[in-house]
Amino acid sequence: MNVMTSKTRAKKLINAPEDIITEAIEGMVSAHPHLLRVEGATGRAVVAQDGPRDDKVGIVIGGGSGHEPAFAGYVGRGLADAAAVGNVFASPSPEQILDATRAANGGVGVVYLYGNYTGDVMNFDMAAEEAAGLGIECRSVAVADDIASAPAARAHERRGIAGDFFVFKIAGAAAEAGRDLDGVEAAARAALANTRSMGVALTPCSLPQTGKPNFEIGETEMEIGMGLHGEPGMRRGDMAQADAVVDELMAPIMAELAFKAGDEVAVLVNGLGATGLLEQYILHRRVAAILAEAGIRIHYSWVGEYATSLEMAGASVTLMKLDADLKTLLDMPCRTAALTVGDVTERARASRPDRTVAAVFEKKVETRETHLAKDGPITPTIFRAMVSLAGERIGEEAERLSALDGVIGDGDHGITMDIGWKAVRAALAQSPADETIETSCKRMAKAFLDAVGASSGPLYATAFLRAGTAVKDRLNLDAGAMAAWIGAASDGVQERGRAAPGDKTMVDAWVPAAEAARACAEAGDDVLACLDAACAGAERGMNFTRDIESKRGRSAKLGARSVGHIDPGAASTAVILAAMRDAARDLLA
Ligand code: ADP
Ligand code: MG
Repeated sequence: MNVMTSKTRAKKLINAPEDIITEAIEGMVSAHPHLLRVEGATGRAVVAQDGPRDDKVGIVIGGGSGHEPAFAGYVGRGLADAAAVGNVFASPSPEQILDATRAANGGVGVVYLYGNYTGDVMNFDMAAEEAAGLGIECRSVAVADDIASAPAARAHERRGIAGDFFVFKIAGAAAEAGRDLDGVEAAARAALANTRSMGVALTPCSLPQTGKPNFEIGETEMEIGMGLHGEPGMRRGDMAQADAVVDELMAPIMAELAFKAGDEVAVLVNGLGATGLLEQYILHRRVAAILAEAGIRIHYSWVGEYATSLEMAGASVTLMKLDADLKTLLDMPCRTAALTVGDVTERARASRPDRTVAAVFEKKVETRETHLAKDGPITPTIFRAMVSLAGERIGEEAERLSALDGVIGDGDHGITMDIGWKAVRAALAQSPADETIETSCKRMAKAFLDAVGASSGPLYATAFLRAGTAVKDRLNLDAGAMAAWIGAASDGVQERGRAAPGDKTMVDAWVPAAEAARACAEAGDDVLACLDAACAGAERGMNFTRDIESKRGRSAKLGARSVGHIDPGAASTAVILAAMRDAARDLLA
């Protein structure tokens, strides 16, 4: 038998790995041209042909790729107006979300619906801030249905899995029915409050870019409560029979939804990608038996692949407890690639006025500065070489960083950082020779954010912007300015992610790096000594993350199980700072 180990590469029917998302979007549109089109400069907003219209609340959904048919499969009349499509397992960027927002905007507000993951929350929040500036009011409902990912008392920390399906459907119907922004948001929240899911994983999946399994699990083991990106669940145990697994998945769902006899429910049995319908129906059989036993009536069931994890084997069970309003909205017609309910006969207005507004991130690139402090050995050219080497090293270390993320996260950190830093390097290649460091930093921020999404996009974009601003009065950097740059980058990460030292994130590397650099500069050391100190600080901080429990980001759900593993974001911070130091040392020698 051919067992997939980390030495073999999963077979995938893809072309060039960097073209996966573009080609998948092209394929979706070519398959469903009557339903879907692409709008906007990013190419990542998939829009309903027959959806957005004036005076209807816009519904924008989104998230990483790899969950097909989520998210673009739910775009269409009566459901979502547009989906923002991120890279594999990575949130879409604010600019991609804005493309979807502009397309969905009918002038009466837009509701954002997405899974509750740090990266998605930060990117959708940034997009909402930008949209507000364009006069589009956006509300966000982060779907948090996975009962395994946090206790009920901390339900707001739960991650979103297949429960998206019901929340999207309900909100889409509420918007189609002509409810206002408050009403649509309230319907989405009511759906979420009555929806719970839990899943089981039997095998890992592998990111198309690496072809490597994103976590390890024994051949006879299963993970109960596994997340949609391979995040660890509640318990790992020996494989059990279908009925016993369903019993374990259903128990907490039944307890939390507090059913009484006579209640009605909608059921979703969802395959994660490699578990066939045969098995899914066997699971549904047991779900139905448990519900019947409790005197609960199934109003409608869906069985199939509705929110997948690439080719992971396993399944999830989702229940939505129905009241009269949820039932009405659930039964309303919709027509999308992944879900059709009833008949959608009459067409929405075929066209509507172009609401396209000016590009949001204006490139105000000032290239010539004459009144800037020139003391210090780090010229803008040297600075850009330092950043460029950081990008090169991230590329070399991408596999190791993804592997670290595979242990306590979703296995994409190296890939994500590599995409971002490649974009940074490409953007800096366009810098005129006399561009200031501040302007280069703005360029870096925009490039990173547009290319990445995920958690790292907003975090690094904010870091670069703050760092650039901190040295805006300078042409060259001396020790003090270099320390200020690192300090402001550190502040930017904290401002955007709201993580504190000790939460087991990249903050734990940035903060000691910044403190060490500042102490050095204050002691009168030179810029290389400052960079050395920053590297040592980052390294210390990175090692410290091994000993602590995660409190932020994807790995926070792991609690004590995260102890003993280095945080991938802290590890990449150490790589970046070491590369900047090495480049400076070479060029100043
Ligand atoms: P994602 O979590 O979206 O998959 P990445 O894998 O690229 O994104 O990045 C994960 C890293 O992001 C973590 O290792 C952690 O260092 C960092 N991180 C996550 N959340 C936060 C936060 N709120 N503040 C600062 N850093 C964070
Ligand atoms: Mg990750």
